[in-house]
Amino acid sequence: MTRVMTHKRYDTLAAAKGPATNGKDASRTNLEEVFGQNTFSLAEMQARLPKPIYKALMRTLDQGSELEPQIADAVAVAMKEWALEKGATHYTHWFQPLTGLTAEKHDSFLAPNGDGTAIAEFGGRELVQGEPDASSFPSGGLRATFEARGYTAWDATSPAFIIESKNGAHLSIPTAFASWTGETLDQKTPLLRSIHVLQEQAMRALKLFGTPAKRVRATLGPEQEYFLIDEQFFYARPDLVATGRTLFGAKPPRGQELEDHYFGSIPDRILEYMNEAELELYKLGVPVKTRHNEVAPSQFELAPIYEEANIAADHQQLTMTTLRRVARKYGLVCLLHEKPFAGINGSGKHLNWSFGTEGANLLEPGNDPHENMQFLFFCSAVLKAVDRHQDLLRVSVAHAGNDHRLGANEAPPAIISVFLGDQLSDIFEQIEKAGRAKTSKQGGLMGLGVKTLPALPKHAGDRNRTSPFAFTGNKFEFRALGSGQSISFSATVLNTIVAEAIDEMVTKLEKETAKGAGIEDALRKLLADEVHNFKRIIFNGDGYTEEWVKEAEKRGLLNMRATMDALPSLVQKKNVALFEKYGVLSRRELESRHEIALDQYFKTVNIEGETAAELASTMILPAATRYLSDLLTLAERAKGVGVKTEGPLATAKAVGALVDELSDKLAGLVKQNAALGGDDVHSKAEHMFHDIVPGMLAVRSAVDKLEKLVPDDYWPMPKYREMLFVK
Ligand code: ADP
Ligand code: MG
Repeated sequence: MTRVMTHKRYDTLAAAKGPATNGKDASRTNLEEVFGQNTFSLAEMQARLPKPIYKALMRTLDQGSELEPQIADAVAVAMKEWALEKGATHYTHWFQPLTGLTAEKHDSFLAPNGDGTAIAEFGGRELVQGEPDASSFPSGGLRATFEARGYTAWDATSPAFIIESKNGAHLSIPTAFASWTGETLDQKTPLLRSIHVLQEQAMRALKLFGTPAKRVRATLGPEQEYFLIDEQFFYARPDLVATGRTLFGAKPPRGQELEDHYFGSIPDRILEYMNEAELELYKLGVPVKTRHNEVAPSQFELAPIYEEANIAADHQQLTMTTLRRVARKYGLVCLLHEKPFAGINGSGKHLNWSFGTEGANLLEPGNDPHENMQFLFFCSAVLKAVDRHQDLLRVSVAHAGNDHRLGANEAPPAIISVFLGDQLSDIFEQIEKAGRAKTSKQGGLMGLGVKTLPALPKHAGDRNRTSPFAFTGNKFEFRALGSGQSISFSATVLNTIVAEAIDEMVTKLEKETAKGAGIEDALRKLLADEVHNFKRIIFNGDGYTEEWVKEAEKRGLLNMRATMDALPSLVQKKNVALFEKYGVLSRRELESRHEIALDQYFKTVNIEGETAAELASTMILPAATRYLSDLLTLAERAKGVGVKTEGPLATAKAVGALVDELSDKLAGLVKQNAALGGDDVHSKAEHMFHDIVPGMLAVRSAVDKLEKLVPDDYWPMPKYREMLFVK
C-alpha cells in the first residue's frame, strides 16, 4: 500500500525538472522593433487617422474634452484595420471588475453580410460601448439580479492592444465598467476620477506659485514580487490549486544541502521564462525595466519604468496576467498570492507614486530642498493627507491574503507612517521650530579608501525598508500592497487625499494673498502650521519593533492589524464625505465596495477553511494513521522474536499523540466550517476572522508537526524544501 505513495511522490519530484527550455530565443530580441508593436499607439493612430480626427482625439486625451461620435467611428475603422492586419479575429472590451482581476468577453469581428457571406464589422458603437451581462460580477447590492445590465465604456486614454496566442489573436480595448444606473463597478473609473481631481488641485497650486504647466498627472511605478514553482508540485498540492497558498507545510531546515539531494536548480529555465514574459510585455508596450531574485528561495521581482497612473494600472494588470500565462509554457506556475509559504517571506507590491507636469516631477526636491518652497508645499500636502487618512491607505491594502504579511516582520507594519529621511525631516523640524528652514543637510561624497575607485555621491538620506510609506528621492513608495492586488484603489486613495490636502492649503494661501500677504510669507506661515499638525506621521526608525507599536499608539496613530479591523473605514463618515466631495466615489459606491470586500474576505477564508479540513481528513490523517498502524504492527510482530520495541513504540506514542491532536483540532474546524456564521455577509466575515482563521492555524500546527515525524515516503504532498528548491 505504501509503495504506491512512494512512487507517486518521487515521480512528481523527477518530473519537476521540467522542460529546460521553450525552444525560443528571446535574447535576440530587437527591443526597439518589438516595443509596443501590439498596441494601437498614438503613432499608429496618427499614421492611420485623418488629421482633424487625430487632433480632436488628442484634445480628448490631453485636456479631457468630450469624445465626439464621429471620432469614435473613425478610430474604430482604423483600429479594426490595424487589428485585422495583426491577425486578430476577435475583439473584447477589457475591464477591471471588483474581483481585482480583469474580465473580457470576446466577440468575433465577423457579421453576416445578408448574402450568406460575412464581413468584418466593428464601428464606433462597438468601440465605445459594450454590454456584458453584469450579474456575475460583484456589485455589493448595487444591482438586483433582474437588473443585470452593466455597461463598458471605452477608455480612450489607455491604448488598445493585441493579445496573441498560438493560433489566434484578439484585440483588447481598455474600458470602464458600470451598472446600468451609472454606479461604478470597477477599479478604473474611480482611478480616472481621482487623477482628474489631483490635476485640478495641483494646477491651482501651480497657478498660485506662478509655475507654468499644461497639465498635472499622477505617475505610478509598481514593483511586482512573485514566486515560481514547478507545476508538478502545484498540481500535487490541492491547497495551492484551490486557494493560491499552502495551508500546510513545515518550515524547511535552514541547511541548503537539500538542494544537492535533488536535482539542483536550473536557473536557465527561470531566465528563459523571464525573457519571454518580458518580451510579451514589451510587445504590449509595458516598459519593464528591472528584474532580480528576491529574498525567499524561488521568489523574484520585476519593475517597470513608471507611467501615467491610468496606463500604469492597466499595465500592472497585464503584467500579472502575462507572468501567469507565460509560466505555464515553461512548466512553471507563477504564484501571486501574498503569502504562498508560511515561515518565509511573502510577496508584496511596492507602489511608487508621484505627480508631475508635462516637464517636471513635482516631488523632486532638488539640491537645496529648504529653498524649494513649491516642493515643500507639495510634500507637506502628502504628509498632511497621509496623516489624516491613514485609515484609507490601510483599507486600500486590506484583504485576506495580506493579513499574513502586514505587521509580520517581513512587510511593513499595519501602522501607517512616513519615512522621510534625514534631510527632509531636518528641514521640517527647522520649519516647525523657527518658522523657516535655512539649510539642507547634504550627502557629500563617500570615499572608498582606494585611490583607483571613484568617490561615490552619498545620498542625503539612508534607505529604510521597514516603513510602509517612504520618500525615496523624488517619489513616495507605498509598500503595503499585496502582490496579487490591483494597484488602482491605493492610487485612487493617494490621488484623492492629496488633492484634498492641496485644496485646503491652496485655499488658505489664496485667502492670505487676497488680504495682501506675499505668497512667500503666507506659504512659510502655512507650512509651519501644517508641520505642527502632521509631524506625528513622520517616523524614520525601525518599524518592525515592539517599541514602535507603543510609540505609535502614544502618537495616536492607527494600528489596524487585520482586514476586518480596517474594512469599516470604507464607509466611515469622514471618508464618505471626502470621496463625495471630490466626486470620486458616492456613498452608495463606497457601501457597495465595503460589502464586496467583506464578501471576498468571507469567501477567501471559507474556501481555505474547507480546503484545510478536507486535506487534513483525506490526505494527512490517513498518512499519519497508516504510519502509526505500521509501527504498532511492527511492535506486535517483534514481541515473539526478541527484537527490542522501545524505539518504535516511543515513535508510535509521539505519532499517536499528534494524530489525536489533529483529530481534535480537525473536528473543531469542521464544526466551525459548518457553522458559517449567520446569514449576512458581515457576520459571516466575522466568523471567518474569529473562528476559521484560528481553527485553521490549530490544524496546521498539528499537521506541520506530523510532517516532521511521518516518513517522507508516506507524506502525500510535496514539501516546502522541494517546492522551493527544486527548479
Ligand atoms: P528605488 O531604487 O528607490 O526602488 P527605482 O529607480 O528602482 O527606485 O524605482 C523603483 C520604481 O519606482 C520603478 O518602477 C520606477 O519607475 C518608479 N519611479 C521612479 N520615479 C517615479 C515617479 N516619479 N513616479 C512614480 N514612480 C516612479
Ligand atoms: Mg523599491
